[in-house]
Amino acid sequence: MKGYINKIIENSFIDGPGNRMAIFLQGCNMGCLYCHNPETQRMCINCGRCLEVCSQGALSIKEGKINYNKQKCIGCDRCLEVCSEFSSPKYFEMQSDELVKIILDNEIFLDGITFSGGECTLQTDFIVDVVEKVKQKSNLTAFIDTNGLINENDLNRLISCVDGFMMDVKAIDDNTHRFLTGVSNETVLKNLKLLAKTDLLYEVRYVLVEGYNDSVEQVKYLAELIKNLNDYTRLVLIPFRPLGVKTYFKNLPLYNRQKYDIIYDEIYKVLKDRAIKKD
Ligand code: SF4
Ligand code: SF4
Repeated sequence: MKGYINKIIENSFIDGPGNRMAIFLQGCNMGCLYCHNPETQRMCINCGRCLEVCSQGALSIKEGKINYNKQKCIGCDRCLEVCSEFSSPKYFEMQSDELVKIILDNEIFLDGITFSGGECTLQTDFIVDVVEKVKQKSNLTAFIDTNGLINENDLNRLISCVDGFMMDVKAIDDNTHRFLTGVSNETVLKNLKLLAKTDLLYEVRYVLVEGYNDSVEQVKYLAELIKNLNDYTRLVLIPFRPLGVKTYFKNLPLYNRQKYDIIYDEIYKVLKDRAIKKD
C-alpha cells in the first residue's frame, strides 16, 4: 500500500504522549487561513514554478513530474514560498512496508507513532495498513492528529485500530469555521462527540485567533461541551503565531498574552487540570 508523506520526524515530544515518531501525510480537506504547514495542504500539480527558484539544482522535471534530490537540497524552502498551490516538491511516496520497517528499526527509542498532516485521515487505508503491521510486531501505540473532518466509515476503522486521537476544533460558530477553514464544522463537532464517548479522545486543540474565534463565550462553550462529554479529554489552548502562515493572516500579530491568560483562566474554572496552556 502506497502513502504520500510530507515528512517524518523520528523523535517528537509534542505530537502526543511520550517520545513519538511523527509522520506527516500530504493533503488536507480544509484550507485554514492560519495554517502553519500550508505546504502539506494539496498535491503537487507539477507546474514547475519552484524549479526556477532552486539555486542548488535540487529540483528537476522528469516525464512531466517534479523530481526532488534530497542530497543537493540545503533546506532554504524557497520552493515552498513560491508554490501558490499550497504544496511542496519535497513530499514523497512510500510503501507501507518501508514505513513499518523504519518505525520498527526505531522501536527501542519510541513510545509510539503519530500520524499528522495535512489531514492524515484522508489516507486511512495507508494508516490502517501501517498500524496493523506495527502492532503485530511491537507494543508501540498509534495516535491520530486530525482536524475532525472524517467520514463515518474511516473514523470507525481508525477507532478500531489506534490508541488515541488529538483533534483540532477551529471554531464553535459555524460561520466563523467556514470563514477560517472553508468548510462547515458540523462533521467535526459530530465526530468530537462520538470520539469523546470512547476512551480515545486524548486531547482537543483550539488556536485562538484574535477577533475571529476568541470570544470567551465560544471557548467556554467548548470547555463545557468537553466537560459534559467525559472526564478525561484535555483542552489545549494555543495562541496564534504567524510562523509559516502563507495567507494574509501572516500579517496578524502574535496573540495577545494578557487576553490569552484571561481566556485560559475561564476554561480552567470549567476543566481544572484538563485545561492545558501552550506557551
Ligand atoms: S511544488 Fe508547487 S510550485 Fe512546485 S511544481 Fe508542485 S505545484 Fe508547482
Ligand atoms: S529547499 Fe531545497 S529544493 Fe527547495 S529551493 Fe531550497 S534547495 Fe531547492
